[in-house]
Amino acid sequence: MQIEVVGVKFRHGVHTYSFSPNGKDYKVGDRVVVTSGKDKGKMGNVKEVITKDSKLLVEGVNIVTKAQKANPMAGIQGGLNKIEAPLNASKVMVVCPSCEKATRIKHEIKDGKKVRVCKKCNEVIDI
Ligand SMILES: [Zn+2]
Repeated sequence: MQIEVVGVKFRHGVHTYSFSPNGKDYKVGDRVVVTSGKDKGKMGNVKEVITKDSKLLVEGVNIVTKAQKANPMAGIQGGLNKIEAPLNASKVMVVCPSCEKATRIKHEIKDGKKVRVCKKCNEVIDI
């Protein structure tokens, strides 16, 4: 029996997949939607996956202001810079390219290859 792990909830399923809120379900270029926090509802493309921290860098999401010290030698102007900070992978969901819905991912083996499949429309997300 396979067990699906969603946060702290456990649910039994018939498919051979598991879901855990970590970086492994996401890939650079995925469209994701933020499901909690100050950026809830925002969409963006994954720019970077930091697997060891289970964090994602998402375009236009989780913008923080960082003070930049002036360094004339390096041609850097001082001031406040807005940059994207990594956010926890558990705070986002993938937007399925087929059904355009925020969805969870399941993993399936197709033709001997591990692929990610949308749990809502069962379309393969990886090309
Ligand atoms: Zn779908």
